[in-house]
Amino acid sequence: MDALGLLLPRGCAGCDLPDHVLCDDCRALFGRTVVAPLAGTLTGRSYSCAVYDGCVRHAILAWKDHGESELDRPFRQLLAGLAWRSGLMDLCGGGLFVVPAPSSPRSLRRRGRRHLDPLARALAAMMRRHGIEARAYGALEAAHVHGRSVQTRGRAGRAARMGDGGIAVPARAVRLVDGTRVVLVDDIVTTGATLHHCVTALGTAGARVVGALTLAATPPPGPD
Ligand SMILES: [Zn+2]
Repeated sequence: MDALGLLLPRGCAGCDLPDHVLCDDCRALFGRTVVAPLAGTLTGRSYSCAVYDGCVRHAILAWKDHGESELDRPFRQLLAGLAWRSGLMDLCGGGLFVVPAPSSPRSLRRRGRRHLDPLARALAAMMRRHGIEARAYGALEAAHVHGRSVQTRGRAGRAARMGDGGIAVPARAVRLVDGTRVVLVDDIVTTGATLHHCVTALGTAGARVVGALTLAATPPPGPD
């Protein structure tokens, strides 16, 4: 029975409703436009589909940390919807890269995949269908591993090391992103520090960051 159980459809990743990857009610929770400031970008903002709690949190953790890649599809659609209703699409044009926030090497090993890549690729494909010359591109690396910097080679490599946020545009990517627009993609915004470091690194490399699209944002702290 255990082997058979593995073959049966799973419940909704958010609420366990049988026979759904992500049920309509949970999907509806991702229909918001949660806005947070993101300095140094053309929109000045990051946009999220949902507040990160309850069923939203369950669904994202199932996808991100438990390998439920069948959620790629609904999450791709939800992020594309956010790109439109946020108005971010109005500022997308010319050559543009959709850049996922980087995962640490340790997280990559644990997950066995770059979970944001399918979302970035789908977003770029959606933009191309609307006449924007967009491509998904992993232009960022999490440079700090176990408290030390990844070694970079040569002058370009040193130039590519930026800030102290542990996030860098590697030398191979600097020439490509210089002068282009970039839309950042991430899963969860907490303090916004990661996105801020991404913007700083990309800006120093000469890219103009339009803004960021994410699945969810942690609720703002209460009055106290
Ligand atoms: Zn559900």
